[in-house]
Amino acid sequence: MNDAVSAPSPRQPDLILLPEAGAARPLVDAFQRRITYLRLSVTDRCDLRCSYCMPERMTFLPKKEVLSLEELYELATGFIARGVTKIRITGGEPLVRRDIIDLFTALGRRLGHDLQELTLTTNGTQLAEHAEALAKAGVKRVNVSLDTLDREKFAALTRRDSLPQVLEGIAAAKAAGLKVKLNAVALKGVNGEELPDLIAWGHGEGHDVTLIEVMPLGDVEEERLDQYLPLDEVRRSLEARWTLTESDHRTGGPSAYVDVAETGGKLGFITPHTNNFCAGCNRLRVTATGQLYPCLGGGERVDLRAALRSEAPEANLAAALDEALRIKPEKHHFRMDARGAAPAVPRHMSMTGG
Ligand code: SAM
Ligand code: SF4
Repeated sequence: MNDAVSAPSPRQPDLILLPEAGAARPLVDAFQRRITYLRLSVTDRCDLRCSYCMPERMTFLPKKEVLSLEELYELATGFIARGVTKIRITGGEPLVRRDIIDLFTALGRRLGHDLQELTLTTNGTQLAEHAEALAKAGVKRVNVSLDTLDREKFAALTRRDSLPQVLEGIAAAKAAGLKVKLNAVALKGVNGEELPDLIAWGHGEGHDVTLIEVMPLGDVEEERLDQYLPLDEVRRSLEARWTLTESDHRTGGPSAYVDVAETGGKLGFITPHTNNFCAGCNRLRVTATGQLYPCLGGGERVDLRAALRSEAPEANLAAALDEALRIKPEKHHFRMDARGAAPAVPRHMSMTGG
């Protein structure tokens, strides 16, 4: 029997039919990796300008190129029908997209049915306003990006003086009952020294923390090699101070966790360079214009927007997903060893989403 759910916006109450459970083939790529996790970008726009993510004068896409909330929902439905059980909404900054809570609400109705987890990655600037609504929609966990607790450094790094709003957002998320994970990109000469304090603060507030190695995605004003702080180095310096024990904790993402005895919190490491994690990749990423990139670090792409807007969207979407599985590469080819090298891929992280 088919269920029907309303589309995200009450202003456009289209009905979308769910396919029968088990009717479609699961998503398994050429390397036998089962895809169960979709990272769906809802905008390339952002209210910050993090220097490792985008240039100060970033050019954003014309709005007409971006999928409507209804199309985003329809896409998500296509993935769920093929066995995706976890969706992370990302961007750009997802919370700057007007009416984005409508999409969370519509997808949230599927939690406990054919969707196990709905979550988001945010810079936190708008979280104070939306935390309650996200919790009400069924979101249980949020990733908030926070690279420094120093207001001046934050302003220099993000080119916006928004640390107070971010901290307020994190507090509001906690108050709304959302489990917060803090993500910090390790940046040479910027936050390397501060990372122990940032981790201790996060753990003290009850938040897990994950450290990320910077990736050469898109042109930014700075030399990538000058930003790169290898996490094996960071880990060695943390081990000189704390007792780190490997943890079998997993969140479905690429993070490998340790328990920190002294703080009582979990610390994750996302290490695309010092420890390749591609063998366990269970993810596909779709940009706000409906371009599916099977690998964050590759140029392979399938146009889902064309499929969605075609005469036979269901069949064309299914064929496009099969193509994505066929071309998903075995691993990324990021390199961080050549000064002045062109980015591994020309897209900024704000296009593909994290
Ligand atoms: N705006 C939201 C945020 O900042 O959380 C969501 C999108 S942002 C592109 C997702 C994540 O990517 C953030 O944690 C950010 O720090 C990270 N990121 C951006 N550019 C990166 C890069 N070049 N290398 C590694 N991580 C990057
Ligand atoms: Fe915006 Fe996130 Fe990129 Fe920073 S990392 S500029 S918050 S999209």
